Amino acid sequence: MDNPWTRCNNCQKILYKQDILDNRFVCPSCNFHFRIAARERLEMLFDEGKFELLDDNIFPVDALHFEDTQKYSLRLEENQNRTGLSEAVLNARGKLGGIEVIVSAMDFYFMGGSMGSVVGEKITRAIERATAEKLPLVIFSCSGGARMQEGALSLMQLMKTSAALARLGEAGIPYISVLADPTTGGTTASYAMLGDLNIAEPNALIGFAGPRVIEQTIKEKLPKGFQRSEFLLQHGLLDDVVERRTLRNYLVRALRLLLNKYQ
Ligand SMILES: [Zn+2]
Repeated sequence: MDNPWTRCNNCQKILYKQDILDNRFVCPSCNFHFRIAARERLEMLFDEGKFELLDDNIFPVDALHFEDTQKYSLRLEENQNRTGLSEAVLNARGKLGGIEVIVSAMDFYFMGGSMGSVVGEKITRAIERATAEKLPLVIFSCSGGARMQEGALSLMQLMKTSAALARLGEAGIPYISVLADPTTGGTTASYAMLGDLNIAEPNALIGFAGPRVIEQTIKEKLPKGFQRSEFLLQHGLLDDVVERRTLRNYLVRALRLLLNKYQ
């Protein structure tokens, strides 16, 4: 049997695993927000945990026949087997406080939540579906950025997703972006920062380039907490920082406000 105990890497306390699970993957002792998989995210989000998965039939391909320490095609296969996902994002439709919504949730456990062509395509399909069906959109980002193994094909997703979001905006349909730890690189540089509301979980690493690259470029020491949610909120890059335990209610309230629906 699996060890029922674990240590919180933040406060070092020994904790009963089930207590963390029951607390939405948040440390009951220090409030540290553990990373969660896309499916768990969706299950804790929707009314009664019920939702319909969409676009689950598109799979990534190794178009460039890329190989680093391993063939990209094998890396994909390994990640698919380990996570049970076809790619690093899940699209879903369901209800949130009775309001029908389209949701995309990224999964960091699939190749670091990197944004390949299929991730970009699924995000775009979610946006286009929200536009066509006039349903509000919520995207949970959790991503190391563009997927190196897909080169420029990966970078093209920034433009594609951003253009689709512009059309959603023109149609007057609300989009809420939720940034989880970490949201970096091309994901931050596209859809993650384009919400009508951009909100983040506590202490999430959010940025474009990493702190080391920035320090080397500007030759200055960065302030403490730089690129963390609270710092970014203070400096106007985010609209709010919301704890996971209140996130669902926060989203319901925000959607009602944006849709002019008070009941
Ligand atoms: Zn802790």
